[in-house]
Amino acid sequence: MEPLDLVLRICGIICSQASFKRGIREILALVGEALSLEGICLFMPGQVYLWPEGLDSNSYKKALEGEKEEFEIFTLLHGNEPRGDLVVKKRELSPNDRLLLQVVTGQVDQFLRNLQSKRELKMGSRLLLDLYSAGRELGSTLDREEMGEKLAHFAKRFSKASYVSVTLFDTQGHRTYGVRETKDKGDLIRYYSEDLFKRWVVSLESPKGNWGVIELYLPKRTSFNRYQKRVIHILAELAGTFLENIALYERLKGLVDERERQIRFLSILYQVGNAYRMTSELRKRALLALRALTDPQKGLGLPQAFLFLHYSSTGCLKGFIGISWFGLSPWGDREWEIEEEYLKRVESSPAFRDIREVSLPDYLLKELEKGEALHLSNVAKDLPFCEGGVFHVALPLMGEKTLVGALVVGKSASLEAEEMQFLTMFSHQLALALESGRLQETLKRTSEDLEDAQERLFHSEKLATLGELAARVAHDLKNPLVAIGGFAKRLHDKMAEDCPDKVYTKTILKEVEEAEKILSNVLGYSKVPRLKKRLTDINALLDDVLFLHAEELRDRNIIVVKKLDRALPPVYVDPPQIRQVFMNLISNALQAIGRKGSITVSTSRAVKQGGEMVRVEVSDTGGGIPEKDLSNIFNPFFTTKSTGTGLGLSIAKRIAELHGGKIEVVNNPPVGVTFLIFLPLEGEGKECPR
Ligand code: ADP
Repeated sequence: MEPLDLVLRICGIICSQASFKRGIREILALVGEALSLEGICLFMPGQVYLWPEGLDSNSYKKALEGEKEEFEIFTLLHGNEPRGDLVVKKRELSPNDRLLLQVVTGQVDQFLRNLQSKRELKMGSRLLLDLYSAGRELGSTLDREEMGEKLAHFAKRFSKASYVSVTLFDTQGHRTYGVRETKDKGDLIRYYSEDLFKRWVVSLESPKGNWGVIELYLPKRTSFNRYQKRVIHILAELAGTFLENIALYERLKGLVDERERQIRFLSILYQVGNAYRMTSELRKRALLALRALTDPQKGLGLPQAFLFLHYSSTGCLKGFIGISWFGLSPWGDREWEIEEEYLKRVESSPAFRDIREVSLPDYLLKELEKGEALHLSNVAKDLPFCEGGVFHVALPLMGEKTLVGALVVGKSASLEAEEMQFLTMFSHQLALALESGRLQETLKRTSEDLEDAQERLFHSEKLATLGELAARVAHDLKNPLVAIGGFAKRLHDKMAEDCPDKVYTKTILKEVEEAEKILSNVLGYSKVPRLKKRLTDINALLDDVLFLHAEELRDRNIIVVKKLDRALPPVYVDPPQIRQVFMNLISNALQAIGRKGSITVSTSRAVKQGGEMVRVEVSDTGGGIPEKDLSNIFNPFFTTKSTGTGLGLSIAKRIAELHGGKIEVVNNPPVGVTFLIFLPLEGEGKECPR
């Protein structure tokens, strides 16, 4: 074969053969046959290729070590670096053969280079494809947790490590997420502790920081190849960039969320502020405030909120109303409104809490008076309404000068700084709304009192003349009446027991006694009594009055129902005067009831005219008062009875008012009538002398 043909055929093998082993065998055979060699061996690190098949390579190897007889060696150079030796055996090599063999070693080196380039090209495109698919997947999420999982998955797939662990950090460098991928973690831990595994750590970095690490574990004797190392490094860089994006996105989202929350807070303040203007009624404003705090749609959506009001007369923070819901919100999806039927529905829902019996302890009051909000983590035992598992905060409601009330709110997690800020603004707004509500109520009451006073003045001017006349007549009649009574008594005593005329003297005596009673009533009315107040048990006074009438009640079969609140505190009143009021009401009831009926007497606590009061009710089944008489019954001298003076109710009214209280009538014809007496609770907390 011509040398040129040989070189061309070797070129053909280099271009077409993908396997070095097979290619080199073909080349050695071609060269061996073309140059009629005895044998030819190619020594590469860790590998020997030979021709013809079955050749004993030992003598060729020895030639390399120096015993070169009959052998010639051609070194395979890669640049200047030797990378193998071609050893040939022939009795004699011509210079042309030598030249040809030098060319062949150059071609073998070329063959090796070609194959290496092809492999690199293949690895490069695989790397690209793998990283492309990983990049697409990693870039498709803005969720840190999902990113961790995906990263672990790809790191394991590309590296073929036995175990992969990914740990991610947030912007503050706190560990936020760790994900592991392993088939058998128990085994791994054992292997690692027995030093059978080694660990490779790659950090996930970007120019802006370090976002986490990938840890890869593999058996001690194995190692990652070039491809695996490169792909993991590039994957880590890629992940670093994506994690930086996530951190950026989280910061942006945080800013947007904060903005949205601020807008929501402002809108609640605006809307509830508008709603307060719909009413000046304390109860309605309080309900609006609780809605702003607890409605999940229109308000803050807190599960608990309680309102306490400060009473300067008693100096304590008393419960008013509260909402506590954990399942269904009581507010529904109605607009802001104060329609009575809607509010009543809320008040009768299971979420509504009537906390009028609850007061905030003094030490809390003192703290709140300083104007600071308080976290109530350790005081739940003092506040029975504060259910467990909820974080509570008490906020003072500071009016212009003093504490108007307090809010206690609860949330299942602790309140955030922005929420506290909102609650502080909300409390200022509510304090003003409550204070102005109270002022408006006082104003309304004062103007009503003024109207009343005007009417009374007008009336009393009319009645004064009549009253004076009555008092003078009563006074003038008193002496003759005493004389008539005295003489009648003497006559009566002198008459024999069996004298038939004795019945006349007896009648004279009874009528005189009745007339004296009337006169003393008339005289009593014309005098304004000076009150001698002391702490008095109202229930005991009522018991006394009923006891005085016990005989008559029994004789006439009248049923007495007592519903007395025995926990009632003592009231600061003039006992004989108040007894007079009860006497008048009970005797009116007795007179109204004909043959059969009942009288119900009850006592309770109530809020009236913006203050704490005791309420006494006297009801009867005497048929009620005709509509036309109703407006006159409290007028002096108005009576529908033949023997009445018309002074009983007007005296009762005057006594109640002198005590700072009130008397009201609820007419319920044809059943009967109820009189309500309200007396202020001034000296609450003091002991009642018995
Ligand atoms: P008197 O009892 O002397 O008539 P009052 O001032 O006590 O004077 O009562 C005025 C009027 O009010 C009575 O005459 C009666 O018409 C009406 N009245 C008072 N209490 C009752 C009652 N319990 N039921 C029906 N009418 C009543």
